[in-house]
Amino acid sequence: MHIHSLTLEELKSWFVEKGEKPFRATQIFEWIYQSLVSSWDEMTNLNKPLKHLLAETFTLSSLQLVKTEESSDGQTIKFLWQLEDEKLVESVLITAPGRHTVCVSSQVGCPARCAFCASGREGLIRSLTAAEIFEQVYHIHKYLAAKGERVSHVVFMGMGEPLENYDNVLTALKLLCDPLRLHISERKMTVSTVGIIEGIEKLSFEEMKVNLVLSLHAPNQHLRKKIIPFARKYELADILSSMLRYADRTGRDITYEYTLLKGINDKPEHAEELAQLVRGHPCTVNLIPYNPVEGLHLQRPERESIEGFREILESEGIVVTWRYTKGKDIAAACGQLALKTKESALAIVP
Ligand code: SF4
Repeated sequence: MHIHSLTLEELKSWFVEKGEKPFRATQIFEWIYQSLVSSWDEMTNLNKPLKHLLAETFTLSSLQLVKTEESSDGQTIKFLWQLEDEKLVESVLITAPGRHTVCVSSQVGCPARCAFCASGREGLIRSLTAAEIFEQVYHIHKYLAAKGERVSHVVFMGMGEPLENYDNVLTALKLLCDPLRLHISERKMTVSTVGIIEGIEKLSFEEMKVNLVLSLHAPNQHLRKKIIPFARKYELADILSSMLRYADRTGRDITYEYTLLKGINDKPEHAEELAQLVRGHPCTVNLIPYNPVEGLHLQRPERESIEGFREILESEGIVVTWRYTKGKDIAAACGQLALKTKESALAIVP
C-alpha cells in the first residue's frame, strides 16, 4: 500500500486495528509531510516493532529518481523517475521570479499522439496511479525545501492526457491541496487537455476548481485532426462549448494553447480564423513556438511570422501570451518530454 494514498482517518483506523493509538497516524503525517523524512528509521518517536510493521505494510515512495538535468540558465530542471514496474516518466521544475512550477506527467506515453510531441510518439503505455502523480510533486517539494523554498504551482502538462486518467488525476489534485500534505492552492493548479468533453464536463462540477487549458493548435477541425489525431473523436465546436461551460460554472479563466508550426498553422489566415473562433471567450491564447523534437521534420516559424500572428489576434481584441520557452537545451520544453527505454536512460546516469 502506498502511504500517500491513505487519508489521515484511514491511517488512524489502521493503527486502531493493529492495537495502536490513533494519534500515531498524525505523527506519521507530520514525519512525512512536515519533516519530509525519507525512511521509517528517521521517525524517532516510533518503536522498532512498529517501524518494522509499517515498513512491511506501506511504501513510502513508488518513484525512484534516475537522474536530473538542469538547463544552462539553471531555471529548469528535468527529473526522470523510474516506477515500480520499471517504466519511466518525467517531471519538470520551472523557476521564475516568485514561483516554482512543477509540470507533472499523468500517464506513461500518451494516447493523443500530437504530431509535434515526443511523448505521444509511442501512444499510451499505461496511466499513472494517484500516488505516482502526487509523488512527482512531493519529491520536488522535498528538493526545494532543502533550499528553503517550496512548490507554488502545479501544471498537468507533462506526458499524458490527464482527462483520460480522470479519477487518479482528481485524487492527486486533492492530495496536492490537502492542508495536511502539500497544501497547494487549487487556484494554482492547471489541467491541460486536448479536449475530452466528458472529462471537461465532469471536472466543471467538482468541488475543486482548477484552471483549465485546451491544447487547440488549429483554428478548424480539418487541420486539428491532422495535428492531434485523437481529436477526431470530438467536434471542435463541441469542445469549445464545453470549455465555455467550464469557465461559466467554475469562474476560472480558460486558456487555449496554440503551438505554432511553420507552414502548417502559422499563416495570417489561420490567425484570422482563430480570432473568429475564440472571439468573446473569457480566455487567453497562449502561443508556443514549436520546440524541435529529434526525428520529426517540423519547423519553428520565424520570429516575424510569430509576431505577425500575435498582432492579428491582438487587433481582434484577443488576449495573447507568447510563452518564453524554458528548458529547451535539456528537452524539457513543451512537447519535448520523450519516452526513453530504461537502458538508454540509465546509460546516461552520471
Ligand atoms: S502534446 Fe500533450 S496531449 Fe499531445 S501527445 Fe504530447 S503529451 Fe499527449
